[in-house]
Amino acid sequence: MDIFTSKMDLQRHVQALKSVGKTIGFVPTMGFLHEGHLKLVERSVAENDITIMSIFVNPLQFGPNEDYDAYPRNPDKDQVLAKQAGVDVLFMPDSSDMYDQEHAFHIHVLQRTDRLCGKSRPGHFDGVVTILMKLFHIVGPNRVYFGLKDAQQISVVDSLINYFDFPIELVAVETVREQDGLARSSRNVYLTNLERKEAPYLYKALKMGEQQILQGERNVERITQMIHEYIEKNTSGKIDYIELLSFPELRSLSSIQGKVILAIAVQFTRARLIDNTILTVGN
Ligand code: AMP
Repeated sequence: MDIFTSKMDLQRHVQALKSVGKTIGFVPTMGFLHEGHLKLVERSVAENDITIMSIFVNPLQFGPNEDYDAYPRNPDKDQVLAKQAGVDVLFMPDSSDMYDQEHAFHIHVLQRTDRLCGKSRPGHFDGVVTILMKLFHIVGPNRVYFGLKDAQQISVVDSLINYFDFPIELVAVETVREQDGLARSSRNVYLTNLERKEAPYLYKALKMGEQQILQGERNVERITQMIHEYIEKNTSGKIDYIELLSFPELRSLSSIQGKVILAIAVQFTRARLIDNTILTVGN
């Protein structure tokens, strides 16, 4: 596995690979790798000649009162895990190399961001899109791999790729979970012991909501209210949102039909957890 910290060096390396016709799969991450990240790598390795992973905790996507400084990091262990998983090229730039110029642009996402995490984290997706545009240009991948756990991110990246005509295929990968259903997340390490026991109720709540829909419930308010009560009863977390929307457009539903997402965010003491389920509903 080759490791690069300089974007210029990586760009040169990628150009050499592309000049001999190699296809490139790209897995952008913020590190502190777990099974979820490694699932994306597994898919990329299966579908491309070369898999490039980036590890970069992007300051631009964290709000002033968020956990940028406290975000968990373990670059040494990440290198071992990435190599074991089959990553060919690991890109670990530092902030001064990624943002080596004054900010001359502010990319602002206008659609798909006025709800869910976009609403509670103003500017978050502007930062995500800015770093992804840079990374897409540096890496020039054929395919990019993102996890459905961050479903709004997938929705925004889908829009980004289409709007800016990136010749890239977006591959959405199912959420990897712990045995008890908790979605794997780098932030899970910040749950207290009690909160860790409560956290699987997020997924249980989503499954319950899904079940209601499958059994014919078509009232959005009743479903979200039921989940609200269930989460309040079973966890000490503070509910940020529970929403049922169309996917990937993330519009309010006049009727529960077609591809829909039921999404949830709960703030625990030090970790804000998100999860969702996506289902297709017939008439
Ligand atoms: P992060 O390092 O948290 O920014 O995540 C990097 C990528 O891994 C994103 O595309 C995430 O959606 C994806 N990811 C994170 N957790 C999971 C998970 N539990 N299952 C599948 N993909 C995940």
